[in-house]
Amino acid sequence: MAAYRPEPDRDSRAWWERLARREFAVQRCEGCGTDRFPARAFCPACRSEAWRWRVVEPEGHVESWIVNHQPFVPGLAVPYVVVMVRLTAVPGCLVHGNWRGGREPRAWERARGSYRKVDEELTLMDWEPAG
Ligand SMILES: [Zn+2]
Repeated sequence: MAAYRPEPDRDSRAWWERLARREFAVQRCEGCGTDRFPARAFCPACRSEAWRWRVVEPEGHVESWIVNHQPFVPGLAVPYVVVMVRLTAVPGCLVHGNWRGGREPRAWERARGSYRKVDEELTLMDWEPAG
């Protein structure tokens, strides 16, 4: 069984490429200014297809999390924690990722993203306590 890998698609490929360059971005709609994540072809607010990247700091607050005890992902030791982080710079956006805190997060704990290079083609963003 192959290890789980995110599959970049037409809309998200450029986002993954930016992440591999250690750049974290959301999309900003050129029609109405709404920021969005994950990458989509058009704005869910006004349906405009015009947008640009907006580079933001990967910082926010842990809004929720799960503790996974099932070995869904080969190579990833259980239990592990997956967090949903509300971005400080873009309050409308929630980003999920592995938690590297060494313990469960606290509700609304400040979190900072860190880039984890898996291989030449894949970099993931983990989240850890902002301290
Ligand atoms: Zn829009």
